[in-house]
Formats: sequence, structure tokens, C-alpha cells
Amino acid sequence: METQILSRSRGWLERAKQYIEAGEVVAFHTETVYGLGANAFSDEAVLKIFALKGRPADNPLIVHVHRAYDISPLIDGEPPYAAALRSAFLPGPLTMVYPSTGKVSKYVSCGLNTLAIRVPSSPTAQAFLKAVDLPVAAPSANLSKHVSPVTARHVFDDFNGKIPLILDGGACSGGIESTVLDCTGDIPQILREGLVTREMIASVAGECGVYRPKTGERPKSPGMAYKHYAPRCKTAYFGREELEKAIECYEKEAKTGVPCFLCESEVCALLKDRRTLDLGGTPEEMARRLYALLRKGEEQATLLIGVEPREKGGVMAGVMNRMKRAFGVEHGTKES
Ligand code: AMP
Ligand code: MG
Repeated sequence: METQILSRSRGWLERAKQYIEAGEVVAFHTETVYGLGANAFSDEAVLKIFALKGRPADNPLIVHVHRAYDISPLIDGEPPYAAALRSAFLPGPLTMVYPSTGKVSKYVSCGLNTLAIRVPSSPTAQAFLKAVDLPVAAPSANLSKHVSPVTARHVFDDFNGKIPLILDGGACSGGIESTVLDCTGDIPQILREGLVTREMIASVAGECGVYRPKTGERPKSPGMAYKHYAPRCKTAYFGREELEKAIECYEKEAKTGVPCFLCESEVCALLKDRRTLDLGGTPEEMARRLYALLRKGEEQATLLIGVEPREKGGVMAGVMNRMKRAFGVEHGTKES
């Protein structure tokens, strides 16, 4: 199969719609990362996503809809705070988990009685979702465990010859996956941190919890238990106060291989003429650059050395979660 990359041009949405209606999988730009989409009503189409990614069968998918799509048949009611959150943050990088009516394919939620729904703000995603006018199940468009894609080229690198079409909307401005928020309880609870922060949610809903799975418990957000975002080269990770040790590690690798640092701008400046990939200075910059730099690192280096950024507030909770998992510092309980 030939994989086409199309950006806004005549007939591109009709092409995407035809593929989705035929049960094919189409990759598309969103403001967070690229998604790998299929008709959420079709068992066969949804199962194709799992097969293409090599995704574990218990890791549920998020359903994407356009801004005017009526989700009420898909969900079994919503608490009052959810309506307020929708009008405050949607379209945008916030996924809301509701009690499901079971209308979409049972493979979307992997046996959970809930459904995760997202309304992306990317004009490309909105145009695509409007054209198909169906709920589109879509995880990130990377092979399972690999770094999430933030350009059409990243998607192509993982799925060339495996999918018919990538809708190119340019580089993703957000850069890390959406915040996943459980909206089934009395107060909203964050299952995965992202660009819509706990503080932002609490300012609208009054309160917001952050879910931490207890040992032995089946996690509410199964995907968070898997190893993720891993570059395909050796990695090492150091705290900000361990810079000397990090430099020793770099020099040792330099004797036989190609080491490279991945760190914030102020640390890059201290590393002089050593190879560095610069995450930037602000949390938003670090979110936007992280995945592209992890992919660059795996192409150029034999050892990628992460140094923990100093910044901690706001969006950094989401950035640190991805960074530590990419470097194998924290990846929950499962290895697949
Ligand atoms: P991805 O799109 O690859 O970032 O994966 C989507 C993630 O959303 C999954 O790994 C889950 O952690 C989360 N998710 C999807 N559906 C649900 C659901 N019904 N309940 C809780 N979390 C979900
Ligand atoms: Mg993913």
C-alpha cells in the first residue's frame, strides 16, 4: 500500500472520508500529537488500529468528534461540572471520560464501561472530523511504545506502506498528549496529565483530583501502566544536581559512541561544545519540543542523556511524566 501525505488541497477531505467509510485507518494532525483514526462504530476498523500499532488489547482508545457533533447518544449523562469544563476548554487538548452507552465498538474502551471523548481544536482535525461526521477512535499515530509523532514525517516513519493517508497539518503546537479527565465521579479526576492543568480544571470545576493507582489495582487509565515514548537508543537520566555525573557518563560514551544531552536551555549553555538537544526554557516550549527531540536523538546518538528540568509548575507535570517514561525512570508496572 502506498502511503500518501496530503496537506490542505482539493479533494483531500473527500479522500479521507472515503477511506474511513471503507473501514481504513487514516492518520491526522491534532494540536497535541498526530492521531491514527478509524470509524469508532466499526469493530473491524477499530481492531485494525490495535494491529497496526501493536497496541496491547487492554489499552483503550479516545474517540474524536467535531465541535458540533452530538455526543449525547454515546454517553450515559454527565455531571454539571463536565458541561462547564466543556464550554471552558473545548475544542482543545482535554479528553473527558464519561459513562458509556456502549454504542461504539466494544474494542474502543477495551471492556471498560466508560468512553473517552475529545474535541480537538486543530483546524485539520476539525475539517476531517466534520467531513466524516462520525466518532473517530484514535490513539497517537506511533508504533506502540515508540515516541509519539508531532509531524507527518514521524507518522510516515512508523507507518509507511501500512496506512493509505496522512492528513498533514504541520507540526503539532501542543506537543504532548491530551489531559485525560475522569468525569464519572462527584469531582473530576485527572488520569493523565497534559496541557490542560489541574489548576485550570479546578478554576472551573471548583476541585480537581489526580488519580494515582494503588499497587495491585487495575489502573483507571490502563495506558498509563505501559512503558511508553521510548527512543530507540540507549538512555540515561540525571537530576539537575547530578550534572557532573551526567558529564562523566557523556565522556565515557564518547570514547566509543555518540552521546547527546537532552536538557533545558540553561543547562545546554553549561555543557559548552558537547552535543545537546535544547528543550527550551518554558514548560510550553518543552512540551512542544520533547517528542521531536527524542526522535532526533534516537537518529543521531547512541546514548541520549536526559537532565531533569528545574521548572516544576503548570504544564511541567505532563512534561515530566512523558520525559521520565521516555527515559525509563517511571513506567508503572508493565513492560509491554
Ligand atoms: P493514546 O491516544 O495513545 O495517548 O492513548 C489513549 C489513552 O487514553 C489510553 O492509554 C488511556 O490511558 C486513556 N483512555 C482511553 N479511554 C479511556 C477510558 N475509557 N477510561 C480511562 N482512560 C482512557
Ligand atoms: Mg499513545
